[in-house]
Amino acid sequence: MRVLLTGGAGYIGTHTALVLLERGHEVVVLDDFSNSSAEAVRRVEQLTDHAIPLIEADLADRYETRAALEGVEFDSVIHFAGLKAVGESVAQPTRYYRVNIDSTLVLLDLMQERGVDKLVFSSSATVYGDPDIVPVNEQAPAGIGVTNPYGWTKFMNEQIIRDAQTAWPELGAVLLRYFNPVGAHPSGKIGEDPLGIPNNLMPFIAQVAVGKREKLAVFGDSYPTPDGTGVRDYIHVMDLAEGHVAALERIAAGVKTYNLGSGVGSSVLDAVRAFEAASGRPVPYEVVPPRAGDVAELVADPALANRELEWQTTRSLAEACTDSWAWQSANPDGYGE
Ligand code: NAD
Ligand code: UDP
Repeated sequence: MRVLLTGGAGYIGTHTALVLLERGHEVVVLDDFSNSSAEAVRRVEQLTDHAIPLIEADLADRYETRAALEGVEFDSVIHFAGLKAVGESVAQPTRYYRVNIDSTLVLLDLMQERGVDKLVFSSSATVYGDPDIVPVNEQAPAGIGVTNPYGWTKFMNEQIIRDAQTAWPELGAVLLRYFNPVGAHPSGKIGEDPLGIPNNLMPFIAQVAVGKREKLAVFGDSYPTPDGTGVRDYIHVMDLAEGHVAALERIAAGVKTYNLGSGVGSSVLDAVRAFEAASGRPVPYEVVPPRAGDVAELVADPALANRELEWQTTRSLAEACTDSWAWQSANPDGYGE
């Protein structure tokens, strides 16, 4: 296939581009570099020895995107582009709704205009809010207990894609609900490069280990979990990338929704210890009050994806920490742009 990756210069997009190229697919990247750099795409080119056409455009801008994609051929789309910082979404709700919703609307119209009828969408486990049953499967209600505009944009985008498919039955769409992506390509050449202070646990821990930050703030240690800290399902970004390829290769008319997670829960302190072991560096931490909107435990039941996509995670949290350390120690300032 020839796959358009919106937001393909970002963390998950670059790793997915690499796996797609290694499987013999072709990729085209569209990105506005609002949270990434062209250097990330150059590194994927080096690692795979393939050229990647790179288109700079704001996907939320219909005219700019249509002009930028004129004459560019693709037969399927993985839609990663969007803003993803939860705290920022609370502070800037209109910006988040505009960018994340408009991008999807522009993309769907453009796909229909051009008869491109295969779409994989980056959704999130955040649509489950605080589920009653953990591990959570795809039957659990979505949208109840979503606590921030970012999460709402994922929930709304899922619905927009379902409605678009009803009106355009040839469309095949897969909604992938990611749990917590971590790690990096084992080469250490590509990885997660957050701007400013990381919001997420793993990049924060990595920056403490490399000496960029003094200590980790652990958000609460009185949750009803084995050690009192929050439990999440950390999925290696290479496993996640492979999940996209599996979804794309099996896409058929209709809408399918899958959890992409490992099914294994790890606490904040598990993650700290795993990173210390992988890096050989101490990760000092201090317990602070819980972060607003956080849930105690969110772990995937990935059985549906295991069965229907013939996909499962094969990499552990320890491996993710080793690979993340390879990236962080070789690139303490990320891509440096
Ligand atoms: P990222 O920020 O690294 O990648 C997103 C990319 O989209 C960036 O390269 C950014 O420059 C680009 N982008 C943003 N707005 C754009 C626009 N208007 N036009 C064109 N490009 C634009 O994030 P990521 O971690 O790779 O996440 C990819 C997708 O997966 C996002 O939709 C995110 O919400 C979703 N997701 C991520 C996580 C996670 O923890 N990383 C979890 C669940 C879902
Ligand atoms: N967390 C933490 N300190 C941080 C960042 C996160 O203790 O600096 C905790 C957070 O409370 C949650 C887990 O780490 O229990 C994962 O948080 P992250 O923001 O990475 O992902 P989320 O699951 O919230 O999307």
